[in-house]
Amino acid sequence: VDRSPFVVVANRLPVDEVTTDTPGGRVTGSGDSRRRWRRSPGGLVTALHPVLVERHGTWIGWSGSPGDAPDPFELDGINLRPVPLSEEDLERYYEGQSNATIWPLYHDNVEPPVFRRRWREAYRVVNRRYAEAAAEVAAEGATVWVQDYQLQLVPAMLRELRPDLKIGFFLHIPFPPIELFMQLPQRAEVLRGLLGADLVGFQQRLAAQNFIRLARHLLGTPYHGNVIEYEGRQVKADAFPISIDVGEMQRLADNPLVRERAVQIRAELGDPKTVILGVDRLDYTKGIEHRLKAYRELLAAGRLSVPESVMVQVATPSRERVEHYQALRIKVEREVGRINGDFGRVGVPAVHYLHQSYSRSELAALYCAADVMMVTPLRDGMNLVAKEYVAARLEHGGALVLSEFAGAAGELRQAFLCNPHDLDAVKDALMRAVTVDEHEARRRMSVMQRHLRRHDVARWASDFLTELGAIP
Ligand code: UDP
Repeated sequence: VDRSPFVVVANRLPVDEVTTDTPGGRVTGSGDSRRRWRRSPGGLVTALHPVLVERHGTWIGWSGSPGDAPDPFELDGINLRPVPLSEEDLERYYEGQSNATIWPLYHDNVEPPVFRRRWREAYRVVNRRYAEAAAEVAAEGATVWVQDYQLQLVPAMLRELRPDLKIGFFLHIPFPPIELFMQLPQRAEVLRGLLGADLVGFQQRLAAQNFIRLARHLLGTPYHGNVIEYEGRQVKADAFPISIDVGEMQRLADNPLVRERAVQIRAELGDPKTVILGVDRLDYTKGIEHRLKAYRELLAAGRLSVPESVMVQVATPSRERVEHYQALRIKVEREVGRINGDFGRVGVPAVHYLHQSYSRSELAALYCAADVMMVTPLRDGMNLVAKEYVAARLEHGGALVLSEFAGAAGELRQAFLCNPHDLDAVKDALMRAVTVDEHEARRRMSVMQRHLRRHDVARWASDFLTELGAIP
């Protein structure tokens, strides 16, 4: 295998295997000639694709099916190097340590994190596997960019194997304050893992500050500004708010088929005056219950009524084998049932609840069809759905209700901001969004669109890589 001067390391490869019931896909060039793959949708791949092609880059990650890894292959000009994960790895490293320990802990303990020694050990073993794959693939002096909370030990492991590399790390989720991070039994190991990078990127300035203060607290590392002195090296910590492929979303929203579909969706909903939309993974950080409760109280008080207003809640299935998620599903579905029982009529539900996953174009049609978008996470690294809604609105106006606890709130200041823990505040924000006049709605939307056009995901990637490249 040729060695690459640019390597991306992420839990998942940016491809999905095409099964017999999904058409299309390309046959891989080498190795498993019977397997077909397709590039998965998503901003990260789109942003990194041109860089990977130009620099003969390699992406290291899991293929999506447990067991032996397929041979390395090429797709759309990117070299893909699969890392194998067994069923047990998935249960312990992915569902356990990543999604039942680190995920809740880094999201303000919204649910209590679960700590298991077995999971911790599996996390270490799997992180080493990714680090070894990167060490094998990277050319002399290469740049390696490690992604997200599943792989926090990789930077230090990789530096030990390959001190010649330039290593960047980006955390897509929040980074918690010291008091919470200190609960993690693996705390020093995780911190040292991250400090193996030359540049550690976060969604928000506050997260970068949490990290710098934590290093000082736990290891006594001195710092000046956003540079930490660690073991004779300098580690820079900085904020790089991620974004979306704005052009792609605007093209979708401008597509006649999508527009037609948006009209059709409104008709299917009974042409209500106000369509209120939520789109989330079914995750306890997203504040779906809080949003439903606010809507129910407004219906009960007669401030909103069915069929003049109707809510559509897409709740994409997620991490269904993790206990917290099973409990959440029951709670959300009970609340939906209660609202429809109290306020629906035959053929006219108050909430259309969709526990399904949608394509980019169907989502774009939903965004176009919605007068009000509700994004109310209790804590969220960024929240791309909020940015997608704004990008999709083109000249239409529309209103975004946005939690102050989403990273996106740092940029989308013209949204109707609220504290999701304060039910009255959510209700007020929703009512202001429902009743805002068209002129004001357009004004707010156009300011936010201008911001997004200047800060899309390509800019995010180039800002990070430029800063990493500038480090001596
Ligand atoms: N998404 C999708 N289909 C769905 C629901 C969501 O493609 O049915 C996409 C959505 O468009 C967005 C991403 O999944 O790009 C979710 O990102 P976000 O930052 O909002 O939340 P996360 O799921 O990463 O916590």
